Amino acid sequence: MAMKRRTFVGAIAAAAILPAVAVRAQAPAKARVVVIGGGFGGTTAAKFLRLEDPGIAVTLVEPKAEFHTCPASNYVIGGFRKLADIVQDYSALAGRHGVRHVREAAVAIDPASKTVRLSGGQTLAYDKLVLSPGVDMRWGDIEGYDEAASATMPHAWHAGPQTALLRRQLEAMPDGGVVALSIPGLPYRCPPGPYERISLIAHYLKMAKPRSKILALDGKDAFSKQALFQDGWAELYKDMIEWVPLGQDGKIVEVVPGEMTLVSEFGQRHKAAVANVIPPQFAGNIARESGLADKAGQFEGWCPIDPFTFESTLAKDVYVIGDAANGGVMPKSGFSASSEAKAVARHIASLVAGRTPDLPVYINTCYSLVAPDYGISVADVFRPTKDGIVATPGAGGLSPRHPPDAAAFRHHEAEYAYGWYASMSQDIWG
Ligand SMILES: Cc1cc2nc3c(=O)[nH]c(=O)nc-3n(C[C@H](O)[C@H](O)[C@H](O)COP(=O)(O)OP(=O)(O)OC[C@H]3O[C@@H](n4cnc5c(N)ncnc54)[C@H](O)[C@@H]3O)c2cc1C
Repeated sequence: MAMKRRTFVGAIAAAAILPAVAVRAQAPAKARVVVIGGGFGGTTAAKFLRLEDPGIAVTLVEPKAEFHTCPASNYVIGGFRKLADIVQDYSALAGRHGVRHVREAAVAIDPASKTVRLSGGQTLAYDKLVLSPGVDMRWGDIEGYDEAASATMPHAWHAGPQTALLRRQLEAMPDGGVVALSIPGLPYRCPPGPYERISLIAHYLKMAKPRSKILALDGKDAFSKQALFQDGWAELYKDMIEWVPLGQDGKIVEVVPGEMTLVSEFGQRHKAAVANVIPPQFAGNIARESGLADKAGQFEGWCPIDPFTFESTLAKDVYVIGDAANGGVMPKSGFSASSEAKAVARHIASLVAGRTPDLPVYINTCYSLVAPDYGISVADVFRPTKDGIVATPGAGGLSPRHPPDAAAFRHHEAEYAYGWYASMSQDIWG
């Protein structure tokens, strides 16, 4: 009897709570934040805004249901991961974190009326906007290289079908063929990415097509982690990789997809069995078309930001993060994008709560694989100053070139690279 009574009292208590919960659920949001782009920057921003303050209503505008990560896409190209291994989705974001996911593209931003127009015609109003659309390709910068040409000469610089295409082409090419890569000058997405790709294509060719060669045609004279990559190439892929810097006519200015030919600045013609053309890039179309990117100068096509807040210097209450932003010395990486997103989420939550925002610190750690069990890395801590973002001296560093037990060291760094991917995926999409 006593038990029944307790159950009954409990039921009444629960019923009494219900209306209060319902009222709370309908309470007006403290602020409306729209996030454009569900990649490394945007998804982190959406999730961490909700973690900072569940009273903020967050809408993520991202047309895709699934996102293929560029990080680890070189593993797919190297043949030791499948495309399905690099897929993330938005179920935790919508379910666990209460972010509204609108599966449309943003087609226009109007900072004056603080609205975003969607591909379906609807308009979203915002108090704060976070924009992380990544990069788009500068089609036509290399003569003959447009979207149609990328079906023959893939860039694979957006992960997904392009990644799978490049992998299929490598599988289909004959032993003894040349794989040519065209690599742009800075700035572009993931400075060490092309060199990890060269390494992992070499890893595949060494096993499956050992008479083949890689010709890396570069629009610059030096690259990220260069000595470490070149040590690894000499050790693992002797005579397989030829890297041609800008100073030796490495810059590709034209392609002829029908002839699988790449043409250099001074007219050398390189014929390839597989051509991976990574074209110059700029901030995602929506950022540029909405007037948020520089229209001239060294950083034409990239979005200028306040280094303390990542707020656009061209539009109030619009925060541009990730690859699209001109973060100065910060490399365009997924880790940077996510680090910027967390700082922006905290900044916005502080403003909403009426707190003075903290001074942010940004970080980047970037692992690259030279082979599946051979990793190298670079790490940096960045701080904003009135003259831009600067690296903190002594706070980061590169893998050593000659560690005592080199094989074990490189093996451990490869393990850390896989761990990095797993923990980043969980941190952002989990
Ligand atoms: C081969 C390769 C390897 C890499 N490896 C690493 C690595 O190991 N570590 C690392 O840290 N980084 C790595 N990167 C870099 C990393 O992928 C990018 O720096 C990172 O994705 C940038 O994040 P983002 O949010 O700016 O853009 P993205 O992650 O590309 O996200 C942009 C999103 O915006 C969406 N979008 C675009 N326009 C609109 C619109 N109009 N409306 C709605 N949505 C829109 C897109 O669909 C996309 O989902 C690598 C890159 C490449 C190419």
